[in-house]
Order: sequence, then C-alpha cells, then structure tokens
Amino acid sequence: MSDDLMYDGWVLAVDVGGTKMEVALVGPDGTLSGRRRVDTPASLDAEAVFAPLAAAVTMVMDESVGGVVAMPDMGGVGCGGPMAAGGAHVSPLNIPAWREFPLGERLADLTGLPMAVDNDAKALALGEGWVGGAQGSRDYLAMVVSTGVGGGVVLDGRLLDGSGGNAGHIGHVVVEPDGRPCACGGRGCLEAEASGPAIAAITGRPAAEADEAMRRRCGTLVGRAVASVASLLDLQLALVAGSVALGFGEPFFRAAQDEVSLRCGLEFARPTRIVPAGLGDAGPLVGAAAVARMRLATEQTTGSDALPSPAPSGVSTVARVGAPVRGVTESVSTDRERSSSAGSR
Ligand SMILES: [Zn+2]
Repeated sequence: MSDDLMYDGWVLAVDVGGTKMEVALVGPDGTLSGRRRVDTPASLDAEAVFAPLAAAVTMVMDESVGGVVAMPDMGGVGCGGPMAAGGAHVSPLNIPAWREFPLGERLADLTGLPMAVDNDAKALALGEGWVGGAQGSRDYLAMVVSTGVGGGVVLDGRLLDGSGGNAGHIGHVVVEPDGRPCACGGRGCLEAEASGPAIAAITGRPAAEADEAMRRRCGTLVGRAVASVASLLDLQLALVAGSVALGFGEPFFRAAQDEVSLRCGLEFARPTRIVPAGLGDAGPLVGAAAVARMRLATEQTTGSDALPSPAPSGVSTVARVGAPVRGVTESVSTDRERSSSAGSR
C-alpha cells in the first residue's frame, strides 16, 4: 500500500484508546517526534475526557511551531470503535463518556488542521502497510489484542471500510458459542474472551500475570478468529499488536499459529501466518498518521467531491478549518455541516 501514501510533509497523529491517549508528529518516513501520552480519564463527562487530550495536542503543536520539527499540515486520528458517518462521530465501546462525540471536528477547531478520523485498528492496518510488517503485501489483517480487540483488513491493496466504516471488528467474531457475555450484547465474542479485562475477570489477576495456559488459550482463540477471516477473505497474513498479545509473547503466538494451521483447511488459506505486528508500540501513532496520508492520497486520486455520504470510500470524514492546505481539496464545509448537524454534544 505504501505507494498510495507518498507525501513529504509531517502529520499530527492522535491515538485515542480506553486506557491512554497519545499525540505525536509523524514524519514522511514514519518517524515519531514530540510524543506525548496522557491517561484516558475514567469519567462519564465528554469534556473531561477531551480536556487532557486537547492539552497534549496543544503542547505538541506548540513545540512544532517552536521549530522542533516541521509544522504539520494535516492531522490523523485513530480511535476505538464503533463510529458513524465515516468517523464524524465516535462512540468508543470503552470510553462511555463519548457517544456520537464529534472528535475530528473538535480537533480541527483546536488545531486549525484538517483532521481525518478512523478506527484505531484500521489505522494500524494502514500503518503496517506503510512502514511496518505488511509492506509490499496487498492482502492482510492487522489486529490489536489489548483493552479491546479490534482489526483492520486490507484486501486487493485497499483498506476495507464497510457500509458505516466499521469493517474489521474481529473482536466481535464468536469464538466460544456459550462463552462470556460481551459489552456489545453478544456472547463468546473474541473480545469477551481474550481482551485484557476479560482475562482479568477470568483469572482474578491482571492480564500481565496470566500463566502459560491462559496465554496459550488467548492465542488459540485469536488464531480461531483469524482462521475464519483467512478463509473468508483469501488473505494469508495476520499481524497482531496490542499489550496483551505482545506481552504474552511466544506462547501466545505459537498457540495462535497452531490454531490457524489446524483450522485453515483450504489450499489457499493453509499458508496463513500470524505474527507480531512490525511497528511495536509506535503502531497506533504511525497508523493515525497513515489515516491522514491515505485521506490525502484518496482526495488527490478522486477529488474530495467523490466521497460518498455517509460512508467513506477511503478514510473517514475530514473536518477542517482555516486556510486550504497544500494538496487537500475542498470538502470541508459539507463535512463540517454534516458533523455538527447530526447530534454533536
Ligand atoms: Zn461482542
């Protein structure tokens, strides 16, 4: 996918998760600069959650203005799902304070930059294809096994969006039909069995203290879901990131590969590999930058007017304010009207 992401400027990258939020500037080769991290407040007030993120963004922007690195001219955001209208409103399952929160518009107002928002795992998939472990691959799955479990799919060299931009929610593929209840309302979803909180609930200990058997079980369940995806979509590479997967390490990945090999019976699916993601803990921010870069590439290819509504064809809604930016065309007013008229708080 890397050919689609040619752009020699810097990007403001924002990653929003249920445990932490991070901000950095990301260079044209994926280098991070000025990285800042804040805890995600366990508040039910939308503004109380946004305030520390806004402070971190402002600090990073001030440093860039101060000449530490080049000034960014667009921003990209990876955020937990689900979301609507191609990222115009986010309702992360693990941030209850935000329901239909207009995150991109708020960050655009704060920074004066056009902001592209997408699901954090889809962002990771883009980042891994750009400068990570999926470079040169046209068909792969990237996933995160952490506080939640998410995924992004690249097929035929294109990131899959789906009708609402939510394609790739592998965390809600059922791996234990009679398993634990899930936050989505279902039962036995991968996220309900293999996420950090699920493991803590099962064992009564933090996930980081899980024993070898639990590490292997988690890997097996992830491998089970990946095997279904590999057969469904004819892809042979799954990259796995996230604190649970990477923390569990070799026992997790060996069990996952064993399960994939066991469950993938069709000739084309048999070579499927499941491996640690290439970008490590930089993945979410690099991915957020890739969201913006992909958005720019999509606009340069198609013209922004080609974006369908409400679902995106490339990456998510751009909300922007201020002067036009090099290479970014004019879709702003319609996007911003759409986001502010549909339930912002
Ligand atoms: Zn679920």
